[in-house]
Amino acid sequence: MQDILNKLRIAESNHGISTGLATWAGQGEEIASYSPVDGKLIGKVQSANRQDYDTVVGQAQEAFKTWRLVPAPKRGDIVRQMGEQFRKYKTELGTLVSYEMGKSLQEGLGEVQEIIDICDFAVGLSRQLYGLTMHSERPSHRMYEQWHPIGIVGIISAFNFPVAVWSWNTMLAWVCGDVCVWKPSEKTPLTAIACQHIIQEVLKSNDVPEGVSGLIVGGREVGEWLSHDERIPLVSATGSTRMGKAVGQAVGGRLGRSLLELGGNNAIIVSQHADLPLAIPAIVFGAVGTAGQRCTTTRRLIIHESIYEDVKNQLVKAYGQLRIGNPLDAHNHVGPLIDEAAVQSYQSAVAQVGALGGTFAVEPRVLSGDDFGSGCYVKPCIAEVENHWPVVQHETFAPILYLIKYKTLDEAIALQNGVPQGLSSAIFTLHLREAEQFLSQAGSDCGIANVNIGTSGAEIGGAFGGEKETGGGRESGSDAWKAYMRRQTNTINYGTTLPLAQGIKFEL
Ligand code: NAD
Repeated sequence: MQDILNKLRIAESNHGISTGLATWAGQGEEIASYSPVDGKLIGKVQSANRQDYDTVVGQAQEAFKTWRLVPAPKRGDIVRQMGEQFRKYKTELGTLVSYEMGKSLQEGLGEVQEIIDICDFAVGLSRQLYGLTMHSERPSHRMYEQWHPIGIVGIISAFNFPVAVWSWNTMLAWVCGDVCVWKPSEKTPLTAIACQHIIQEVLKSNDVPEGVSGLIVGGREVGEWLSHDERIPLVSATGSTRMGKAVGQAVGGRLGRSLLELGGNNAIIVSQHADLPLAIPAIVFGAVGTAGQRCTTTRRLIIHESIYEDVKNQLVKAYGQLRIGNPLDAHNHVGPLIDEAAVQSYQSAVAQVGALGGTFAVEPRVLSGDDFGSGCYVKPCIAEVENHWPVVQHETFAPILYLIKYKTLDEAIALQNGVPQGLSSAIFTLHLREAEQFLSQAGSDCGIANVNIGTSGAEIGGAFGGEKETGGGRESGSDAWKAYMRRQTNTINYGTTLPLAQGIKFEL
């Protein structure tokens, strides 16, 4: 690991603050990053105080004046070069993601692949920031709309996708002509610093102005500064619904824009017409992948009563084969939770299930022993519950899968929609009518609705996000870029008279 830290230039510095090219140690509190894999200290970072924060935002303001004038395809080319850098450092960054956050090495590498993919997407996008033209109702007039950069984009990210979420926002924002200030999760500061190091060479060789890529390591307080800062027209925040409500209110209070990507409570409906050999692995991956710490993790399984026992038994068997342990070992399926607080949330949720009369098809357990020294490893469990129970309505960021029985598809859809969150959903069925009903306007109310694939593992090409308490934001593919720009409607009179709209006469 030391080798990797050296290559990513983590070991040589505890610099938590950066304006793209210049980095320095902040004057705020020290943040220590311990690996949930083995409990060892990876590094310490000096976080930002208010003065550091103002320096970074000030540099971003200056940089915006120049960056917005760089032609979009040229900005795209710089993003292309960044993609090349991430290709070069994929193994090192992927390994650090795995070690600092605790997800499997495959998933760590997959997260860096997402950065590479969004870079490629953004390069193409840099030539496609299209507006529309309209026909004016007035003679000799032309109307069109164009999209301009919005300014500084503040990015607040969560621990579970410590680098991909940054890239979804930043790569699009950069080709759109914006500059970015990133506050990563205080639980994963080192991966953030590594990203800043990886792109530095590209910034330097292209004379990109200081301040295009700001990084401020710090806790909740720094996120609050961003949310209240009128210099920041857009705050893109990924994390819990609790955090999103606070950010949404703060940004809304100053009539800024927020893009919120918050918690999910994702369900799969397993119909009696499901292809079970397809469904079972999708359910298991969705429920236990990243140790249940994905916003799109499968948390609820809504199973037709006629196949309920069969599905339950198959899942119990599959869970029996799961290997839990060091996520850097490719043989293991499930790594640790992020920290001891997450283990406590898991324990509290399973205790609530027990208290409400739920039963466990696969028992929960906190694992101990030499292989689980960090104290953050838990056993993925399966509980039989009722959808309306508070613990089921709430997102617990851990591998707990809830089983619920249904009779009719209408009932299943009502159960699937009957939670406060609206991120990802899926149905397994080979019945065309069922699939179409699920996808119809009377079907799933989520931002993502899949047929015959699970709830997690979205591709970057589609717009990513969800409804209700998930916050309503969309990131990544499709036309999500529009959130990072301001729209301007233009009317040009190339005639010799001044006709007014709506036929209004005004004669002097
Ligand atoms: P969290 O809400 O605890 O923290 C997320 C970020 O918000 C951190 O950087 C934190 O410092 C900051 N923050 C916390 N309180 C804040 C406040 N009042 N003002 C400003 N910033 C504040 O979340 P977490 O534990 O890091 O991540 C897990 C959560 O993130 C889960 O709920 C998960 O579903 C969600 N998530 C959602 C998506 C999505 O795209 N919808 C993606 C990843 C994670």
